[in-house]
Amino acid sequence: MALVAQVIIRKAPAILLRKVEYGDHDVVLTFLTPDEGKMSAFAKNAKKSVKRFSGVLELFTHLEIVIRQGKGLPYLDEASILSPYESIRTDYLKSAYAGYWSEVTIQWLEEGVPQKRLFTLFESSLAALHDARRSPGTVSILFQLLFLDIAGLAPSLSRCAGCGVDMETLSQAKAFFDLDRGGMVCPQCRGEARHRMAISVGTLKQLRWVLNEGLEGAFRVRFSPAAEREGLSLMERFLPMHLGREPKSLSFLSKIRSF
Ligand SMILES: [Zn+2]
Repeated sequence: MALVAQVIIRKAPAILLRKVEYGDHDVVLTFLTPDEGKMSAFAKNAKKSVKRFSGVLELFTHLEIVIRQGKGLPYLDEASILSPYESIRTDYLKSAYAGYWSEVTIQWLEEGVPQKRLFTLFESSLAALHDARRSPGTVSILFQLLFLDIAGLAPSLSRCAGCGVDMETLSQAKAFFDLDRGGMVCPQCRGEARHRMAISVGTLKQLRWVLNEGLEGAFRVRFSPAAEREGLSLMERFLPMHLGREPKSLSFLSKIRSF
């Protein structure tokens, strides 16, 4: 009796995070999906097959994909666009932000672990980045802070990361963030911090508000240009420290932003 290899076909919403050419014809794709987290799949003949995947397999596109899983790496059977977010790919700054979020996500996630909240966060962040009325920098603060929260690495913004005193009862114009201890520090604990950043109390309050609101309400926030700069520089130092490696896309993003 011949053994027939079992083939499983499944359909899923997915965001395309990365494309790597493989050989002359094929492409290896990395997706973010709600039920399986990070997922890699082959697209056979994607480079040649104009009819099949033309204009569909673009980075940062929200897709519906059909995956065929036999032995080995799954491969992509079909893909259709749910939201193209085309302005992200035609704008250098926007695509640099989305590229940074993708690298962070790929670095942190394991394959096959459900990530419903992260999928919703990523999708909401792309929608906000595509929206011309939203500031890309503000959206990136939200993405990073809520990503850290989902990863269980949210900074301590209400209590001193040294002694635990309630920071909201202290009256001060400037507050200090201790990057090593991962949170705000009170005046008594400030001296022990090796890597600290001053941050204005107004910005701190807004970051706290974002964490409290979570995914449901946080995208309503508006930062002043000064608060956006402070929030971004804090998040872009804190997040890489926790991932243990500086994402390559972050230095690219800084270059694009300085133009
Ligand atoms: Zn303290």
